[in-house]
Amino acid sequence: MAICAQIAGIPVMDVQRHDGLCVHYLATVPPPAGMTVEVALDWEHRWDVMQQHSGQHLFSATALATFGWRTYRWDYRPDICSVELVTESAIVTEDVLAQLERAVNAAIGRAHPVAARIHNPEDDAGPTRVTSKQSLFNASLGPTPPVRIIEIDTADSCTCCGTHVSNTSELQLFKILPTVTTRRRSGLPTTTISFLAGGRILGFMSHLLQVDQAVGALLSCSRPEYAQMIEYNKTRLNDARALSSSLLSHTCGFLHTTMRTSSADVTVWRAFDVPIEQLKTIVLKIAQLLQQSHAEAPAARPARQLLAVSCPAPVPAKGGKKAADQQPAQPQQTLPYLLLTVAGDAPDAEALATAASDALVSAVQGPLPNTCYRIAVPPAAGGGGRGRGAAAAAPAAAPLASICCQGTIASQAELDHVLQAWGASRQLHLC
Ligand SMILES: [Zn+2]
Repeated sequence: MAICAQIAGIPVMDVQRHDGLCVHYLATVPPPAGMTVEVALDWEHRWDVMQQHSGQHLFSATALATFGWRTYRWDYRPDICSVELVTESAIVTEDVLAQLERAVNAAIGRAHPVAARIHNPEDDAGPTRVTSKQSLFNASLGPTPPVRIIEIDTADSCTCCGTHVSNTSELQLFKILPTVTTRRRSGLPTTTISFLAGGRILGFMSHLLQVDQAVGALLSCSRPEYAQMIEYNKTRLNDARALSSSLLSHTCGFLHTTMRTSSADVTVWRAFDVPIEQLKTIVLKIAQLLQQSHAEAPAARPARQLLAVSCPAPVPAKGGKKAADQQPAQPQQTLPYLLLTVAGDAPDAEALATAASDALVSAVQGPLPNTCYRIAVPPAAGGGGRGRGAAAAAPAAAPLASICCQGTIASQAELDHVLQAWGASRQLHLC
């Protein structure tokens, strides 16, 4: 809850009405009774409340006078306020919102005085609008409570106990926001309309301009071209996704066929930095294809394994090869790597996949600096396998397993050593 005031330097956390008295709830122990205290008001917050609330009065009065829509409730929030109107069967179009907004701003421009008075049932006819909370205030104030009325010149007369500006000109400006929501209240359709009033609009505009600058920089175009540029980029993105999906499908299909028809291991080696998730996607897709094809028609010769390595290309020396030859030897660069293995449908697939990890550990001559973990591949439907959690006696499913290792290799030579240690006899350079 916002702190809206201080009493003797102690923050006021809440204010409630009890038996006609205004009770302030303080953050700490209150000062002793009888002590003279200084009360400090958060005027910036109070002024914002006065502007939003008075703007709501004027908006509710305008909606009632223009379309006969009474106010069901209104909501004050630190960012955006709203009014829920009983619009019945009416459709609140953009033209209607624009008409309401023009009418409210015209009333602001006429600088109507805003004043509070106590209603005298014997002398006046009472307010033209009554807030829904009036009965609650009456109950707390006794059987014959005073009724406070806020009047905006001749434009509005409404029961209210809140704080208001003294003239509509102090509202400065009223802006309706385009988002509206509809619902039913006791069978009656209502429409909630969001708005801003007064100084809050300046802050909102500043925020919009910051967003505008950021969007313009990202799209490299001016505001009138935003929609066209976004549409163009959406089309390009969809085309790129379709192409990527097609390439992935063809790549996985090719590697799957190779593994099914060759007795050699297959290595996928990305010679530059590539998103790890992309390589994992390829490996898992191949695993699924192997599993599926094995379930449909077990191969006469077990497929071997897929070894996928992601490693950035060596950074060329400045000035080309000639310059590099003339330079003294540079310290070896540490290369991040990702090793992914997925076993084929060989009976000892899981053991072979584990051996791939062991070979890597051996090649780097020490414990893996980062992580080495398994990727679970679901067993084929209708059968088990020799993988973890599978029934050992079930022969139908492909005993697939995969292992993912991440870490660093000190040099390209060490990476070659890893591949040799693993014993990969074929390498498929995909890029
Ligand atoms: Zn009010």
